[in-house]
Amino acid sequence: MERLATPAHLRAWLTANGIGDGTDPPVSDALLRDARDLREAIHRAGTSIAAGGVPDPADEELLNRWAARHRARLILTGGQARWQLPGTDRVRAALAIVALDAVATLGGQGDGVVKRCEQRTCGGLFVDASRGRRRRWCSMATCGNKVKKANLKAARDGAEEGHPGGAEL
Ligand SMILES: [Zn+2]
Repeated sequence: MERLATPAHLRAWLTANGIGDGTDPPVSDALLRDARDLREAIHRAGTSIAAGGVPDPADEELLNRWAARHRARLILTGGQARWQLPGTDRVRAALAIVALDAVATLGGQGDGVVKRCEQRTCGGLFVDASRGRRRRWCSMATCGNKVKKANLKAARDGAEEGHPGGAEL
């Protein structure tokens, strides 16, 4: 499923990443394609790293190219750090922030390790910043609960069939 199908999705995605306020001017189709390419490269690189591997050089190259376009300023306002986008070409500058952030996080400069959600149908990436680094799901509310429910059901079914204790809780 394409989650960045329209410019509105792109703005929402940037807002969700703490960039922009969702009121930026419409973005072109070309920029939308760029955003998709960037997001997919981040996802592929993150998936490789989460699996203990190294990203494809082409993906690293794409991330580095975007990160090099970084022009936003980090400003302190009301006690909070916030990205201030330049006056022109704001969406491209916002994508550069996403790329820079991805380079730092994927490359181990952030606080936490990159992991892939263990819920089979999800595969989403997340940063595990928990103390013991034992987090297994992108979100406890969605994927964590799904897995726990499935495990409970498996345990119940197993018990009915006379195999108690066969499921891992
Ligand atoms: Zn998940």
